[in-house]
Amino acid sequence: MKLLTVEELEIAIIKHTSRRKIFEEDGLTEDEAFDLADVLFERDKEGMDNRKLCYECKNHNRLLKNCKVKNPFFLPLILQRCPQFELKGKK
Ligand code: SF4
Repeated sequence: MKLLTVEELEIAIIKHTSRRKIFEEDGLTEDEAFDLADVLFERDKEGMDNRKLCYECKNHNRLLKNCKVKNPFFLPLILQRCPQFELKGKK
């Protein structure tokens, strides 16, 4: 198990808070949002897991709660390796 530096931990807490806010805005309960943010924290901590959430994909339409490219495996709350994933913010 990897131990985080203080700086890495501070960044992780900021990310966790930001993600929880997004998940709650999208209708998850406080507990669900916390748990999902924890899943991402665990994934990122080791840096070995390349699965993603639809929330991190630029094809995720948060407003309409769907996938812009109509991927039939749109599972926004589950880590997956979607072949159509495109990282948000990447040009
Ligand atoms: S392309 Fe894949 S990862 Fe992206 S929103 Fe659609 S289903 Fe999710």
